[in-house]
Amino acid sequence: MATGVIFDIKRYAINDGPGIRTTIFFKGCPLSCAWCHNPEGMSPKVEKMYSQVKCIGCQECVQACTRNACTLTSEGIVTDKKLCVACGECADACPTTATEMSGQTETTDSIMKILEKETVFFDQSGGGVTFSGGEPLRQAKFLLELLQACGERGIHRTVDTSGFVRLETLLEVARHTDHFLFDLKVMDPEKHKQLTGVSNKLILQNLKLLAETGASINLRLPLVEGVNDDDANIDEVTAFAKSLPGESKKVNLLPYHGVAVHKYEKLGKSYHSNGMAAPSEKRQTQIVERLKAAGVDAVLNG
Ligand code: SF4
Ligand code: SF4
Repeated sequence: MATGVIFDIKRYAINDGPGIRTTIFFKGCPLSCAWCHNPEGMSPKVEKMYSQVKCIGCQECVQACTRNACTLTSEGIVTDKKLCVACGECADACPTTATEMSGQTETTDSIMKILEKETVFFDQSGGGVTFSGGEPLRQAKFLLELLQACGERGIHRTVDTSGFVRLETLLEVARHTDHFLFDLKVMDPEKHKQLTGVSNKLILQNLKLLAETGASINLRLPLVEGVNDDDANIDEVTAFAKSLPGESKKVNLLPYHGVAVHKYEKLGKSYHSNGMAAPSEKRQTQIVERLKAAGVDAVLNG
C-alpha cells in the first residue's frame, strides 16, 4: 500500500470544488510562489514549527530530544537543523503546542477511513474529496492509489494542481479524476519565473493537452495587487482560457490574503509577500466583469 506525507485535512471545504468537500493537503511543491499562503506545503519533508509566543520556557522539548538539537536561548528555543531528524519527540513533550510538527505520513487506508465518514455530506451536497497541496502530483503513487480507491467507492474526486508536472503523470491522474482545479499565476513567462521560481511554458502546454482529453477543469487565478491584476494579464488569461478545447472553462479568482505570515515565522522561513495585498473590492469586481464581458465565466473564490 502506498504512503504519502500530508500537512492538513480540511473538512467541510466549500471553495475547493463542487459541494461540500474534504481537502487533503499533500506536502511538497515544485513552485515557490511569492504569495504562497501554505508555506508548510513547500517542503516534501516533515518540518518542525515553533512559536515563541506560546513557549513558557519549561525545556520539556530540550529534555525529550535525544539528539541534543534543542537549546533554550534568550530568543526562545533554537533548533540545530543539522542535528534534528524531525522525529517529533519534542513536539509530543511540549505542553503548550509551542513546538509542533508539520507533516504526517498516511496510508491510502488511513485516508480512506477518514473520507468514508464524510460520505453523507458528499452525497447530500454533490461534494467529494479534493487533493491539494503543495502539489499532489508530486506524490503520484499515493495520489493514484487514493483516486482509484475513491473511484471504487463512488466518491467525487477533484485534483488541485500547479500543472508543473510530467505530462505522462498528469494524463494518468486524469484517467482517475472527475474535476481539476488548475492554477494559473501570471501569463508573462519571465514574470512567472520571477514570482514562482519556474517558467509557465510546461504548465500552459500541460493545461492545453489536459483540456484536449475532455477533462473537466476550473482555472484558478490568485489576485495580487500590482502583481497580476493588470488588464494586460487578465486579457491574456481570458484569451488563453477561450483558446482551450472542450467546454468553456470557469475562472475562480482568489484575492490574496496575508494570513500565512505566522506560518512563515513558525517555520523560520522568510516571508516574500511582505507588502502584497489583494486588489480593492472595486478592482476585483472590475476584473470579474472584464472576464465576463469577454465571454469567460468568472467568479470570486468559489
Ligand atoms: S524533532 Fe526530534 S530531533 Fe528534532 S529537535 Fe525535536 S526531538 Fe530533536
Ligand atoms: S516544551 Fe514547548 S513550551 Fe516548553 S520550552 Fe519547549 S517549546 Fe517551549
